[in-house]
Amino acid sequence: MSIRWNTKARPWARNTWTWRGSILASDPELEGKWHAPRSGRDVAARLVRSADGNVSVADVESGGELVSAASAQIRISRRVGSVPRRIFFPDQSMFVTRDNDGVDRLLGASVGRGTKWLVEMERFRPRLAIAVALIAVLAFAVYRYAVPVLVEVAIAVTPDVVPGLMSSGALATLDEAVLSESELDAERQQEITNGFKALAAHAPRGSDGYTLYFRKGGAIGPNALALPDGTIIITDELIILAGDDDDSIYGVLGHEIGHVADEHSLRRLYRAAGITGLIILIGGDIGSGVEDVLIQGSALLSLSYSRDQERDADRYSIEIMHRAGRDPEAIARFFEVMRDRFGDTGKGAILTTHPATSERIEEARRYAREITATAKGGDG
Ligand SMILES: [Zn+2]
Repeated sequence: MSIRWNTKARPWARNTWTWRGSILASDPELEGKWHAPRSGRDVAARLVRSADGNVSVADVESGGELVSAASAQIRISRRVGSVPRRIFFPDQSMFVTRDNDGVDRLLGASVGRGTKWLVEMERFRPRLAIAVALIAVLAFAVYRYAVPVLVEVAIAVTPDVVPGLMSSGALATLDEAVLSESELDAERQQEITNGFKALAAHAPRGSDGYTLYFRKGGAIGPNALALPDGTIIITDELIILAGDDDDSIYGVLGHEIGHVADEHSLRRLYRAAGITGLIILIGGDIGSGVEDVLIQGSALLSLSYSRDQERDADRYSIEIMHRAGRDPEAIARFFEVMRDRFGDTGKGAILTTHPATSERIEEARRYAREITATAKGGDG
């Protein structure tokens, strides 16, 4: 075992070797300079190592011994290019030599190749581990903080015209691919539109900020969709499924208003663009494809909302329904109807994007009761 010096007291000792092992009987000599402890004085000196394992430094002129120590007690700086090597003695005197090869011969005699590699790894490994940890933290921070910040910036700098273009593009694509003209009679459409306007009056953009479209869902069945400019589409199938429970229709519409109000689809789209896409977007270098993707709007349709966004939209529905004087539990009731009709893993319908799980229904009911109770508590 080598002697471990307190490296705090001897900062120079951090990057040095501890002399290990035995000294061979050969008698190499190193020419250099000896620096007295804590002094700027140096003298031409010669380092020798004796057969008994001691290392000593002698004055070249007088031949007198300047310092001597057991080989286990000295430390040698690592080889870095042609930088002179320093050999430290326990009395804090130092021998400096440019004879790098000579020092290596000395080291080679005292520590084997394996040992040298081990020493290298010991020195390197903590730094490597720290570097890897830092990179991991940085990558996480970029994902956790930089992307959301960039998404917010992108939303802030998105020209007003873009959500409109995206939305009309998406609606055109939907009409072409899956939706068809509503078969609902005009009177019923007007009735629901009136109820929708009254509900939207409690949303940030007001009743004129949202437009309701009726369509026959076809392949997407009972469904409702929100586009970033406030366009909301509801299918005949959903209205028929709701039966005479109009509040459950408004509950769904409130949920879709929530997606628009919190700009969920823009957030999803921008998040999907990734850091590079966001930087291009924010930098204004739109034109090479990015613009086309945005305006086509089909990208909007390929994205689904996150679980958190769905929960937030459910809560939004509950709050706006309560503000509008309608039944806040209606959204939960609608999901129950969906679940009973299609099961909680139904395919094709609204369920793929809006899983009507018992957990979700329970959560919505709980929040609706909480809102109602808080309001009552506030009144009395
Ligand atoms: Zn939703």
